[in-house]
Amino acid sequence: MFKKILIANRGEIALRIQRACREMGIKSVVVYSEADREAKYVKLADEAVCIGPAASSLSYLNMPAIIATAEVTDAEAIHPGYGFLSENADFAERVENSGFTFIGPTPESIRTMGDKVSAKQAMIKSGVPCVPGSEGALPDDPKEIIRQGRAVGYPVIIKAAGGGGGRGMRVVHTEAALIHAVTTTRAEAAVYMEKFLENPRHIEIQVMADTHRNAVWLGERDCSMQRRHQKIIEEAPAPGIPRRVIERIGERCAAACKKIGYRGAGTFEFLYENGEFFFIEMNTRVQVEHPVTELVTGIDIVQMQIRVAAGEKLPFAQRNVMMRGHALEVRINAEDPYKFTPSPGRITLWHPPGGPGVRVDSHVYTNYFVPPNYDSMIGKIIVHADTREQALARMRTALSETVIEGIQTNIPLHRELMVDAKFIEGGTNIHYLEGWLGQHRR
Ligand code: ADP
Repeated sequence: MFKKILIANRGEIALRIQRACREMGIKSVVVYSEADREAKYVKLADEAVCIGPAASSLSYLNMPAIIATAEVTDAEAIHPGYGFLSENADFAERVENSGFTFIGPTPESIRTMGDKVSAKQAMIKSGVPCVPGSEGALPDDPKEIIRQGRAVGYPVIIKAAGGGGGRGMRVVHTEAALIHAVTTTRAEAAVYMEKFLENPRHIEIQVMADTHRNAVWLGERDCSMQRRHQKIIEEAPAPGIPRRVIERIGERCAAACKKIGYRGAGTFEFLYENGEFFFIEMNTRVQVEHPVTELVTGIDIVQMQIRVAAGEKLPFAQRNVMMRGHALEVRINAEDPYKFTPSPGRITLWHPPGGPGVRVDSHVYTNYFVPPNYDSMIGKIIVHADTREQALARMRTALSETVIEGIQTNIPLHRELMVDAKFIEGGTNIHYLEGWLGQHRR
């Protein structure tokens, strides 16, 4: 096992990784920007190294500074967390070429899965069902594009192979608009075409693989509550989907991992409509919403990432993976709860909830200054209970206890959503939250 790991990230995930290291008896080094001097994990660090100014390009995306810090601190491995360099194949390659272990998949896996066209082709080969569409990148010939549009059937969605975070996608309802959409999207990268699904849910499968040809799937998460393609509430299991349907897709994901030689944690994202799953993309890293899976399976995903990166075998087989009860997560964002304008600044009071089955992952505290330079997420509240109904009640209680003063947060929005009849029923689709916000505009 490693003696020391460098954490190349910030915010709640930096604290999460630091906690995992500490429990495993591993020393950790955090790198931080000038804007993150006050963060909890910096104050608690075994070692902390300031690697640059607030701008991410000069700090959390600064590959030479991160690798040089690993060298001078004698770290053996680098955990990239999520966002920043976590899905950058060049970074993974540079880490490994400098003699460190990258806690994640191989650079080749990141490269294949990071390109949505090659990812889809790999999934089709592995028997994972995908959204119907073009077989690869679209050709230049407009006649051929129009032929493919007719074959797929309108509406279609034109997507950039290298898109991410909801960028590089255009929905096309008529043939007349097709070529224009392809040309404008193509300005960004190679493009492909998919059938546009009108009312899907976003369901994803968590996988974990070691370097000894073992791969398991750890259940699913329903992340359909999104605004502008950003998830704000996640849960496991997904309400109302028959277990055998999910098991079939989970098994295919685990089999695909073996086939492509995947290692570490990963997520296969699907759209789910009319009882069918359609692959859209893979995330080759730990995700924000990993705690809901941890709470229903009892498996520590971050510790497991570290173990398999160190070459250990997965300590359990698929038959040992059980899902117990129901977990819900809400993301706490420093923002106006209804206008969504960012609300950085000093937190004058931070009072997180507690009690049985309540987990709070956050790097903030009373008197902490939320810097304006990064993503607005300042933490997550995650609850676990025997049933979904009890988990909802637990989340309502947790939210009613939470007090955050000095900045605005989306806690009031979460309080309202937790008593919304349709959300309580379960199974809302990816457009539900936007529709709800439209109706509850103030
Ligand atoms: P990104 O990498 O930008 O997150 P995804 O491929 O995961 O891109 O798509 C993001 C979101 O866009 C999905 O969660 C879904 O809301 C919507 N989307 C993507 N593909 C389709 C599709 N074929 N039909 C309908 N909506 C889609």
